[in-house]
Amino acid sequence: MSKVHVFNAGPCILPEAAIDNAIAALKDFKGTGVSVLSISHRTKEWEETMNECRSLWKELLHIPDTHEVVFLGGGASLQFLYVAMNFLEKKAAYLDTGVWAHKALKEAQGIGDAYAIACSKDKNYTYIPKGFEIPSDIDYLHITTNNTIYGTEIHEDLDVPCPLIADMSSDIMSRPVDVSKYDLIYGGSQKNVGPAGVIFAIIRKDALGRVTRYIPTMLDYRTHVDKESMFNTPPVFAIYVMNETLKWVKSIGGVEAIYEINKKKAQLLYDEIDRNSMFIGTAEKEDRSLMNVCFVMAPGKEDLQDEFMAFAKSRNMVGIKGHRSVGGFRASIYNACPIEDVQALVDCMKEFEDLKK
Ligand SMILES: *Cc1c(COP(=O)(O)O)cnc(C)c1O
Repeated sequence: MSKVHVFNAGPCILPEAAIDNAIAALKDFKGTGVSVLSISHRTKEWEETMNECRSLWKELLHIPDTHEVVFLGGGASLQFLYVAMNFLEKKAAYLDTGVWAHKALKEAQGIGDAYAIACSKDKNYTYIPKGFEIPSDIDYLHITTNNTIYGTEIHEDLDVPCPLIADMSSDIMSRPVDVSKYDLIYGGSQKNVGPAGVIFAIIRKDALGRVTRYIPTMLDYRTHVDKESMFNTPPVFAIYVMNETLKWVKSIGGVEAIYEINKKKAQLLYDEIDRNSMFIGTAEKEDRSLMNVCFVMAPGKEDLQDEFMAFAKSRNMVGIKGHRSVGGFRASIYNACPIEDVQALVDCMKEFEDLKK
């Protein structure tokens, strides 16, 4: 099979080394003779992997001692409920920057008083609202740092007068983050740090236990902090692959190094979108995501959309169809996406322009 260039929005591509090691571990986990699929999570060998994974998270993101990282099942979508259960007492504000942000808000509204502090739906979520007042007496402000569907991103760690909670599903480990500014950072692993089946939550420990409601055991972050993510059977294989992915991140110089590469990759593609007469970007320039690059056919070229899709397919481009709510194209260029693949897409766009001139 010839080389394909995979731009899937999630599950994402993973580093080759992580896949190769996973294949080996499926047969024999660390020389135990037991497949990683069958290894008991109470063995020393597994505990080592779990500890290594936790340490890598702390090392790569410089997580301070005030915070702990846990790994759970249920997807980022279940975290929407965890957030409200564990942190919403009186009132919480949500920055509504897209479908995921909106779903997080909706889930919180089922638990208590939560509202959208600002919203960019008026322009189909193509920008990040700015300049809105944030009250200091709310339980937290919830943000979605990268809006996977629309290709917008909050590039900085916000300074806010209240606790800050962030869904970083699709840009975690893509750029340095000042973890100390957040009470909680969470996300699904399948966009940038692993396969589907495990979520990460980085929690400020002393922010827990402030709400008065009863929290069911499994939905209480304290359970998982206390039991080091081993209260019940963890998603063993997904954590194994996540650990291998983080080892790869470290091997290429950590998050700081990856950030530099990510900026180059995104610039390469955005420059072509801006140069090429066939295409235009959909996101506001200053809010453009480094992870999900969204573009459509330029005005007057709309009827060439299917043709470009077929052309890109013939050049082995996979997963560039835009989300149905935006249309057009979306190339997800997460950490593990090599710059060569981005270049291949750029070449493909150039070729298409030449063909149609
Ligand atoms: C994909 C995604 C989610 C949902 O993740 P699941 O693990 O499928 O529940 C939530 N937030 C963002 C920003 C996402 O990109």
